[in-house]
Amino acid sequence: MSLTPVLFPDLIQALIDTIEVHADEVTELDQAIGDGDHVFNLQRGLQALREHAAEIAQLDWPAAWQKIGMTVMAAVGGASGSLYATLFISLGKNSHDKTQDLAGFAEAFQLAVEAVKQRGKADVGEKTMLDVLVPVAQALRQDAEASKPLAELLDHLCGVAEIGVEATRDMLATKGRASFLGERSKGHIDAGAKTAQLMVAAIAGVLTKWQ
Ligand code: ADP
Ligand code: MG
Repeated sequence: MSLTPVLFPDLIQALIDTIEVHADEVTELDQAIGDGDHVFNLQRGLQALREHAAEIAQLDWPAAWQKIGMTVMAAVGGASGSLYATLFISLGKNSHDKTQDLAGFAEAFQLAVEAVKQRGKADVGEKTMLDVLVPVAQALRQDAEASKPLAELLDHLCGVAEIGVEATRDMLATKGRASFLGERSKGHIDAGAKTAQLMVAAIAGVLTKWQ
């Protein structure tokens, strides 16, 4: 299977829709242990991407990811803005081809998640988006290498993301604003992990329909 940025407008719309549907739920999560702006931050980034979607769809992968990263960087404040911008810019640096097969994307994505870890000085177990992104990147890499059928692979990634987000509930936050609460951060799912999981599910939905 080869992926092209032509999919990009559909993907962005799916992300906008899922964040809209879950906006109140995510805002409550970010209000409980953060400052409540996470949905707003994501929506600003996604709206900016929608404005550039037609242009991005015409680019090859390295240029598309670079443009996506720079757009997010310019549009979004907050920790999540710079972390997602890092993810996309790194994807651009690690994508070399005009079209990309799934194994190539999986490799680039794992490197990009490593770049996010470095940027945030964080790792799994700290109650952040990384508790979804890291296991999803690992599962994607393994499944792509094993040439798992796409539908099975996407189902697997969605399940891994759900386990990741649920695991953040009992974690102690040691990074980001939630870490200011210490022990009181326990008992709440992390908002950034939740939106990462929602976005994985939405992307899987688009790819399933498209295949
Ligand atoms: P801010 O925390 O600046 O208000 P957002 O509310 O948009 O920004 O994003 C908060 C989310 O960012 C958190 O829920 C968490 O998932 C993620 N996050 C915060 N700090 C880090 C970090 N150092 N590494 C990885 N993810 C982080
Ligand atoms: Mg916030």
